[in-house]
Amino acid sequence: MQHTLSFAAVQQAKRHAKALKNTFPNLAHTQRLDKAAVELFGVRDYHELNKRYEQFINRDVDTPGGPNSISHCRFCDYRFAADVKEDQRLHRERHERFLAAVETLGYRPGSHMERKRLKQDGHHQASHSQVLADQVAGVLMVTRGWFDRSLSSAISGGYWKKHPNFDAYVAMIVPHLETIFQRQVAEIISQYGRTDGVIPKDDTYWSPR
Ligand SMILES: [Zn+2]
Repeated sequence: MQHTLSFAAVQQAKRHAKALKNTFPNLAHTQRLDKAAVELFGVRDYHELNKRYEQFINRDVDTPGGPNSISHCRFCDYRFAADVKEDQRLHRERHERFLAAVETLGYRPGSHMERKRLKQDGHHQASHSQVLADQVAGVLMVTRGWFDRSLSSAISGGYWKKHPNFDAYVAMIVPHLETIFQRQVAEIISQYGRTDGVIPKDDTYWSPR
């Protein structure tokens, strides 16, 4: 098997192993997993499949050298001790959540660093540009940073399917924008509308009720 294992591929192997229960009732669960791994992916056994899957899960993990170093996953923005089993498990769980969400949404929320940059650049553009349209674009960059943080938290919390998309979020964040960006907010409202009563004006997180 030369292609990279995807999240869907491993789910597929697990489902196939379950289906094999009917045709091979005498096999143990681990044997069915082995059989599924061989039949679907041509690997030696499930252990091999799992090993490749681990590689796939960890392909965006940076681990700096030195003792007690903290690894960081660029994909799901998680910091953890890569040599601690419990941390590996927590990363894997979070990473799978992000994989499922990003695959469905076709969008990956920016990491902490990316969001910080969006907010800094956006604030700068909103307050220094002479042109209203550019100021509005700056406000939207700041808003994108908040949106990404809110969506990340929804993915970690397991309620991302209910999270509003960006356009709907902008309308909901208008009460908060009015407290910071008085000069640009009318233009934002004309483009995105306003939705009161969902996100409180002192907050930037959307959360389910
Ligand atoms: Zn990750």
